[in-house]
Amino acid sequence: MNPYLPQRYQVLGFTRESPDTFTLTVNMRSKPAPGQFVQVSVPGVGEAPISICSDSRSHIKLNIREIGNVTKALSKKRKGDALWIRGPYGKGYPMKELEGKNLILIGGGCGVAPLKGVIDFIEHHRSRYRDIRLFLGYRSPDEILFKKELKEWRKKYQLEVTIDQNQHGAFCYDAKVGFVTEAIKKAPLDPHASVAFLCGPPVMMKASIDLLKQKGFGERQIFVSAERLMYCALGVCCHCMIRGKFTCVDGPVFRYDEIGAYAHD
Ligand SMILES: Cc1cc2nc3c(=O)[nH]c(=O)nc-3n(C[C@H](O)[C@H](O)[C@H](O)COP(=O)(O)OP(=O)(O)OC[C@H]3O[C@@H](n4cnc5c(N)ncnc54)[C@H](O)[C@@H]3O)c2cc1C
Repeated sequence: MNPYLPQRYQVLGFTRESPDTFTLTVNMRSKPAPGQFVQVSVPGVGEAPISICSDSRSHIKLNIREIGNVTKALSKKRKGDALWIRGPYGKGYPMKELEGKNLILIGGGCGVAPLKGVIDFIEHHRSRYRDIRLFLGYRSPDEILFKKELKEWRKKYQLEVTIDQNQHGAFCYDAKVGFVTEAIKKAPLDPHASVAFLCGPPVMMKASIDLLKQKGFGERQIFVSAERLMYCALGVCCHCMIRGKFTCVDGPVFRYDEIGAYAHD
């Protein structure tokens, strides 16, 4: 099969998550690794890389922020509509290698989406991992993603949700006001048996990595999900290169020592 050629799929469901974010469920049958992404296209509009935020063989879920032409066109898709996808691409989180560890997942805004794929994977293989801690930071209550899932996650894991501000005193799903880094600072994290997965805005990633290092985490215990402009997703166009590596093929998940500060600069 030509790897550049997208296949036609059908939307099974649309969920509005926040004013500018939505989740599409698509009838694509595959078994992606948590952290992998697909290239989604709308004919006549364009193509965009989107992380898979589910763990299932029967469908994939894509959480998308409306930012430009492709993502806005995708926001109009509803049950039964067609879209075109190629992939999955890239390397995900090394879940096999990390069995027996405590997992610390730190996500900011839209960056929580790929981590949701990891959370779903953990739910299906819970006995393989020890303590699970989630730190999820958002700007405001409106922007909190996966509100339905949060209730379940709170029962099963040590979950901290933070919002930068709550000006209108809106219901905020037990979120604390403050930056996600304040929650990380207060948490008793054991660097010896733990690894951390990070995905979010550069400034949040940098501050969180600095904190983890202060708490004794080495660079090999930190995994970051990098976002770069990319077109082919096959290691050909070279748009997404970081420190001699292709984000599309060698990433988007990198161990921090592989790309260092390029993860957040
Ligand atoms: C591996 C990977 C996984 C991603 N996963 C998701 C996801 O799960 N959900 C999601 O909503 N988005 C995700 N993105 C980002 C998404 O691909 C872009 O927002 C999308 O391409 C925008 O397409 P568009 O046509 O709607 O906007 P465009 O009109 O192409 O872009 C709008 C603006 O965003 C900028 N932009 C576009 N893509 C990027 C990028 N990759 N990095 C920095 N700036 C960019 C453009 O320069 C422009 O200023 C991911 C990107 C990568 C590389």
